[in-house]
Amino acid sequence: MQKGEVPTVIIIGAGLGGLTLYHSLIKNKDKKEFNVKIFERESTPQDRWQGFHIGISGYGIKSLMRCIPPSVVSNLPKAMPDPVPGEYHSISITDHTGKVLMKPLIKQVKDFYEITNTHNGFILTYRDILRNVLCEGVPIQWGKKCTGYEETEEGVWVNFEDGSREFCDILVGADGVHSPVRKQKVPELEIFDYGVTFINADVAAPKHIMDKLLKIHDNCLCQKTLGLNGDTTFVALRLIPLENFKDKSEFHYRTTIALTYLTKFDEGPDRIKVDDNDPASAVEHAKFMIQKLRPKCEYTDIMLELWDLVPKSASTEQENYPFKTYNTIQRRKMQDINPLSVNSWKTSRVTLIGDAAHAMCPVLGLGANNAIQDADRLSQALLNYYSPENYISCIKTYESEMLKQRSADVLKSRSAALRQSSPVGGYFDILIRNTIMKIINFTINIYYYVNSFIFRN
Ligand SMILES: Cc1cc2nc3c(=O)[nH]c(=O)nc-3n(C[C@H](O)[C@H](O)[C@H](O)COP(=O)(O)OP(=O)(O)OC[C@H]3O[C@@H](n4cnc5c(N)ncnc54)[C@H](O)[C@@H]3O)c2cc1C
Repeated sequence: MQKGEVPTVIIIGAGLGGLTLYHSLIKNKDKKEFNVKIFERESTPQDRWQGFHIGISGYGIKSLMRCIPPSVVSNLPKAMPDPVPGEYHSISITDHTGKVLMKPLIKQVKDFYEITNTHNGFILTYRDILRNVLCEGVPIQWGKKCTGYEETEEGVWVNFEDGSREFCDILVGADGVHSPVRKQKVPELEIFDYGVTFINADVAAPKHIMDKLLKIHDNCLCQKTLGLNGDTTFVALRLIPLENFKDKSEFHYRTTIALTYLTKFDEGPDRIKVDDNDPASAVEHAKFMIQKLRPKCEYTDIMLELWDLVPKSASTEQENYPFKTYNTIQRRKMQDINPLSVNSWKTSRVTLIGDAAHAMCPVLGLGANNAIQDADRLSQALLNYYSPENYISCIKTYESEMLKQRSADVLKSRSAALRQSSPVGGYFDILIRNTIMKIINFTINIYYYVNSFIFRN
């Protein structure tokens, strides 16, 4: 790039992080102009399942609002509707029978703007709709799968599967957990496997089932149970009935359900054969695991009822599937990437944001918030880019903070997930676990209570 020329930034991946970065660089063009291009491997916005509920917290919303233009802000309520009566945007953790062990007292708000004034609040959001909202007005180049890049003195050549190449001054890999950009930039960085399997799905759950769960969980929208064998169940929903749902006899809510269990149980002698290419087989397997790992009780029956609602096939039921794209139900490994587990992170014209740099397990609900905040911070750092000579210092400013903070988040999430996945043996083990959970809950609530005063003043 010659002095005075507008630098080109290429973003690989039109997920939450990549799209937020695009908006921010364009929004700030009166301060610093970039020619920004964004490439996505999928061929259309509806290609792949994007959905489930995610909790967006104060820092995520603050960053998002800083990055996106007012036209996009005005569409955010589609993705994060205002809380409705009866909703408690918080998480409740119970034992496998539904006895509450933990329920942090989270300040409730009237809309997403107010979340920015809380220290611990979040709003349960539809991830797929958030992605759609962020896609609006962005000239995404669809069907462009990046395969790698070549870095030269002058800039970076980006290679695509279709044989084409593009040149840029700065390349940003926002291409998710299996990022080819990361694999080339930091090849030593390995994915850490928890030895835990998870299966998740979105279902249309009838009100009468969800009422039972809401009663147990005191109207909390995120509901987790801890089993005795290192297994967990998770349910998340908004109390907003699905519009135009085929069954009009009662309200149905879009509901995310998930099951995690120790992968070693897939190897036991009494395992059943699972075909991960056949969703019906994966659903049967999830039910088999619940029956195997959980004692018979009302809570177990509710979980089995919910798993029975999962659409078993994409081809025949997609028209009736109310969430636009269909999640192929299959077993997945719980994994993460700690960006500081290697010493070879060298700052260059190629950088990473979001899951590409630091995929973390979803247990603390940090991944999307962090991808959005990375986009915000990188764009702020790039505003100081004034010549081809100082790009390194801009990217270094972003990377040094990102690496430190995200590594800590990855390890925090990992430790919480591994703790939840520890089997508890006899009566005393259970007593100790439950007591510890209740003490943690008490301490967290005191901390939140004190903080709410500090925040108010
Ligand atoms: C069950 C579950 C629950 C979660 N809950 C929460 C929560 O409550 N709160 C929270 O903050 N986070 C949550 N997360 C995490 C969150 O969804 C992710 O961290 C976040 O979406 C990461 O955003 P990203 O932009 O970095 O990556 P992605 O959203 O994965 O986007 C990457 C994009 O890059 C594209 N791409 C990949 N490879 C290429 C290529 N070679 N060429 C071109 N394009 C490519 C992909 O198609 C995709 O569009 C959850 C995750 C899961 C699985």
